[in-house]
Amino acid sequence: MKSLIIGGEEVDTGEYSSIVNPANGEPFEKVSVIKDKDLIKRSIDLAEDSFREFSKLPLKDRSKILMKASEIMEMRKEDLAKTLSLESGKPIKDSRVEILRAISVFKIAAEEARFVLEGKVHRVDAYEYPPGNQNRIVMEVREPLGIVAAILPFNFPANSFAHKVAPNIVAGNTVIVKPSVSTPLSALELGKIMYEAGLPRGVLSVLIGDSAVIGDELITSKKIQGITFTGSTKVGLSIASKAVLTSKRLMMEMGGSDPIIVLNDADIEKAVNVSVKARFEYAGQNCNAGKRIIVHEDVYDKFSKMYIDAVNKLKVGDPLDENTDVGPIISNTAVNTMNDFIEDAKNKGAKIYSGLRIQKGYYYPLTVLINASPDMKVMKEEVFGPLAPIVKFSSIDEAIDIANSTDYGLQSAIFTKDLNKALRISKELKFGAVIINNSTRLRWDALPFGGVRMSGLGNREGVRNTIMTMTEPKILSIELE
Ligand code: NAD
Repeated sequence: MKSLIIGGEEVDTGEYSSIVNPANGEPFEKVSVIKDKDLIKRSIDLAEDSFREFSKLPLKDRSKILMKASEIMEMRKEDLAKTLSLESGKPIKDSRVEILRAISVFKIAAEEARFVLEGKVHRVDAYEYPPGNQNRIVMEVREPLGIVAAILPFNFPANSFAHKVAPNIVAGNTVIVKPSVSTPLSALELGKIMYEAGLPRGVLSVLIGDSAVIGDELITSKKIQGITFTGSTKVGLSIASKAVLTSKRLMMEMGGSDPIIVLNDADIEKAVNVSVKARFEYAGQNCNAGKRIIVHEDVYDKFSKMYIDAVNKLKVGDPLDENTDVGPIISNTAVNTMNDFIEDAKNKGAKIYSGLRIQKGYYYPLTVLINASPDMKVMKEEVFGPLAPIVKFSSIDEAIDIANSTDYGLQSAIFTKDLNKALRISKELKFGAVIINNSTRLRWDALPFGGVRMSGLGNREGVRNTIMTMTEPKILSIELE
């Protein structure tokens, strides 16, 4: 049984929720859950009380806590990866990568905060107004916001924790984390590690329980100044609409339906290999998975055949097996949603190539849709599972129109040997990133990451951006004698 973390104290509430292994559908662990709103209020009060002292801790000391936490994570990385695989169904080789990334996010935050938080002295003597500027020193410094609520998605329980906690802690904020109810174990482990690394009491809480109850308490509290959310667009927008009423700083990272455009001069073998991995890694449950593949008519048949062959080579199996490429999806509800997408595509004329169906847990057959068309639901909505629609285009304008024909705008990719064409297309793609000749999955953890349109609201995530967003500029003016 795992307890909640309230300001560093492990709390057993006496009420539990079972954590299910998506690979067999069976519960393997229990976590304490919040039933009583008083515990949420207590976490907020602790975060408020500890902020005053914590924000005064020298930056070098806050950086040291993160460095120490990264060292402990490094020592326990195999256990952390196993926990992540068990709760999320992520293949162990991918879980190891996620833990290594989380460790690196802690280090980047510890190392780079000093540069991001650097202030300025303004040359106000350049301005006529207000009069007397030649006798003033005007500085701009950055100060932490206060309490930040971090709401995590199920699909990156460790790296999302790292992105939402490490930059805020180094900035001097206190943090209340609300992980997904499906995958809370990694966040609880990382929360404990933060305290082992020397985090002062009160600064961080990890709350598990009914999302709407905990969420509403955090979102509506005037004591909380910032929300960093990653999850679906529907939930993100509903949180944002309430959070603005108490004037909170927002970082909302939401859904995606990333296109991959393959031109007729592309290196087809590379385009196939990259786009299969981009779509089927973690059974298609990545925000920036290559969810729609848009291929020039000259190479469509060749590409589609090679794509199906490559999908057939993927090894579907137990997430803890070293050789597994693709595991289950997160829940039975997710399985039913996938069935609806396929039914709609079938009715609208798609040819369906489907892999083996595993009759346990929440596995879904790896599926490719040939002759997909832009009117299908798979081309408009976010598909969070192992399903790849391949659409044909004949002109570059048509490819751009298809790529832009969803409400989402996270990342995108183009495969071509002609850099001029790629740059022309990239100007018209309405996405937060355009990756030329590689995967929509590319992300650099230090840099801004996120989407436009319905994929993002407020500032983007990324260590430097989070530190910047979750701190306030303050002008300090000193009058000289
Ligand atoms: P979700 O929207 O269902 O849940 C996200 C989080 O919000 C969870 O912790 C959930 O418990 C919480 N939540 C749900 N209802 C709430 C409420 N009323 N108040 C407060 N919190 C509430 O998303 P998910 O299924 O966990 O994650 C998958 C989604 O996340 C996909 O859409 C994916 O694209 C997106 N995602 C985006 C990024 C990105 O960087 N843009 C990264 C990873 C995942």
